Amino acid sequence: MEYFYGPVPSRRLGFSLGVDLTPKKSCSFNCIYCQLQIVAEPRMKRSFFIDFAKFKDEFRAVLSKNPKIDYITLSGSGEPTLHKDLGKIIKALKEISDYQYPVAVITNASLLQRKKVRDELKEADLIIPSLDAPTAEIFKKINRPHPKINFYKIKKGCIKLRREFKGKIWLEIMLIKGVNDSLDSAHKFRKVIKRIKPDRVQLNLPVRPSAEENLVPDLKQVEKITEIIGQDVEVVAAFPKNKKLKQAKIREEEVLSYLRRRPATIDDLSSFLGINISELLKYLTQLKDKKKVKVKSEEGIKYFLIND
Ligand code: SF4
Repeated sequence: MEYFYGPVPSRRLGFSLGVDLTPKKSCSFNCIYCQLQIVAEPRMKRSFFIDFAKFKDEFRAVLSKNPKIDYITLSGSGEPTLHKDLGKIIKALKEISDYQYPVAVITNASLLQRKKVRDELKEADLIIPSLDAPTAEIFKKINRPHPKINFYKIKKGCIKLRREFKGKIWLEIMLIKGVNDSLDSAHKFRKVIKRIKPDRVQLNLPVRPSAEENLVPDLKQVEKITEIIGQDVEVVAAFPKNKKLKQAKIREEEVLSYLRRRPATIDDLSSFLGINISELLKYLTQLKDKKKVKVKSEEGIKYFLIND
């Protein structure tokens, strides 16, 4: 499959059928915590990246297997709003699936200032925009954006989206040690959030391997930040381990396709594939020997990554 992966157990969305619209790391940012582990030139130009007929065929093939899906999620390995005609794509996903599943879009919010992009997003049910900084200076440090983007445009775009969008908005903040995790930042975040008025705020932590290391803040500090920001905040928790997909055998392409998009722990992969951990470990060791995957430790936790 070129455009779909999963459904994967997602920390926030249950069983999420991932939709990957952009070529790897086509993004307007170059975040210090990016799991794609690539330093690429940020881009702002929107394009129609996919073969639409093939996209629809692949989606029908996914549905024919009758998978458990809680959300169809546009995210993948780049910024989905860089894809032109996003509204047409969301509409197609809904029509083909007989409006059975809600569609979520995970976005870095960089294009929300554009009316056209906000109009296209109206077709979705849930939008999860990122806002990792409460000030312009911190924004540049964390998100390392395309020169045409600034913090004020992002904030304005989120406020306008809230006014116009009828679905749910969950604002995501990635907390980075020593950059946006001070109590002063927390108070500033609180002010910005009050203006945006999302339905929820989700604090995320950069626990997965990225190009930079030691980014995870102290958990006591995270608790204090949660208290300052207020009631509708949650720290995004790990996906419950008892939710398992039934699947008989390990398929190499499925494992590699998952790892191509995000590094994973053995538990992540076990939940995704519904395969027991010892069997999976043997299989991953073989893939490691064939140099198809590699292992990296972060905060004492082992992650499997694609070996590009
Ligand atoms: S917005 Fe997402 S894809 Fe883009 S650089 Fe940041 S983490 Fe990576």
